[in-house]
Amino acid sequence: MRICVVGAGGREHALADALVRPGHDVVVTPGNPGIPCSDPTPPEQVAADLYVIGPEVPLVDGLADRLRAAGRLVFGPGAGGARLEGSKRWMKELLVDAGVPTARHGSFTDPAPAVALLEALPPPYVVKTDGLAAGKGVLVTDSLAEAVDDVRAKLDGSAFGPAGSTVVIEEGLTGPELSLLCVCDGHRAVPLAPAQDFKRLLDDDAGPNTGGMGAYSPVPVAGPDEVDEVMATAVEPTLAALRRRGIDYRGVLYAGLMLTAAGPRIIEYNVRFGDPEAQVVLPRYAGDLGRLLAEAAAGALSTEPSWDRRAAITVVLATEGYPQSPRSGDPISGMDEAAAVPGVTLYSAGVGPGRTSAGGRVLNVTALGADLPDARRRAYQAVSLIDWPGMHYRRDIAGRAAGMEVHA
Ligand code: AMP
Repeated sequence: MRICVVGAGGREHALADALVRPGHDVVVTPGNPGIPCSDPTPPEQVAADLYVIGPEVPLVDGLADRLRAAGRLVFGPGAGGARLEGSKRWMKELLVDAGVPTARHGSFTDPAPAVALLEALPPPYVVKTDGLAAGKGVLVTDSLAEAVDDVRAKLDGSAFGPAGSTVVIEEGLTGPELSLLCVCDGHRAVPLAPAQDFKRLLDDDAGPNTGGMGAYSPVPVAGPDEVDEVMATAVEPTLAALRRRGIDYRGVLYAGLMLTAAGPRIIEYNVRFGDPEAQVVLPRYAGDLGRLLAEAAAGALSTEPSWDRRAAITVVLATEGYPQSPRSGDPISGMDEAAAVPGVTLYSAGVGPGRTSAGGRVLNVTALGADLPDARRRAYQAVSLIDWPGMHYRRDIAGRAAGMEVHA
């Protein structure tokens, strides 16, 4: 099959890699200078048997609808389904309607009732933008004053522009987090291997939220029973609620969960592969990913996913100043040496011409190993070979799950 992957980051590089493996012919549009099969031609003008849309922004903007209207086979929800990610308020309403367990919450356009709800809740306080904010629109804090300031900055447009014109306030939940990415064909959903990502910038989950600083798979706390429970209590009822609204959801439904003492709770839905979760889930896919995605796109899933038993971890290498004001243009050294470490693959998130840093997240160093400690050793060995001025990464990715001291 000729497959067109839409997007420009490490997730799309990992998608391309997993699709090329069983022999498909892949083009990534627009891609980036670090992804070999990149092509700047807009997806509408690329001839392909299957279109796989990576990022949320084109999905929310209706790219899947436009391609389908032109008769193309598309993996990715239309704008109707993509509202699950495009509006947290709408997503929360759908969860309540579907009876899916989630944090208690309220949605507000005025500061006064939002502050009143914050004052009525115990810490930690959770304030989210309704609209898309590249994973950075969520504040979790123990400080009521900081939460109140954040509500005001979001609602008056100074923090996130129109994305913050509605805020969602949530009860703070505690427990291990889990990302369960499911492939949906409109009626049926099949779970992919569970993953866990690391959203905060700094070790020990300190610093601001980012697009994601690393991930690993499998997840020791998420066995088959936990996955079955999430499918039965969250994913399947959500797909049914979408169908009741006339939405034929064909694409990834990514359930972001917290495994609380009272059971799993949905904290977010995304409508595409996670970035960087894709970089640890897709290398472990043992079947023909193109076939699985094409079946889902056609509304006729029949393949059961199968998995490489090895573990995977990915460490995100970011630039100085990320996420607020990333610096670009520094020459990157050591990429070839790092890629030569057995089990290691480099995915290019923001590599510019001539191997320079271009954007906040630059490289994803992914390693497969016999188990998590082995994968972790290989990934950090490769990381130690790469450098550029101001390069930053977390040293504790998968540290706890691998049974290690979190500081590598
Ligand atoms: P989201 O973009 O909604 O997934 O939120 C980003 C991160 O904020 C999550 O990965 C959690 O670490 C944290 N978070 C979101 N909602 C809650 C909540 N209700 N309670 C505690 N932490 C949360």
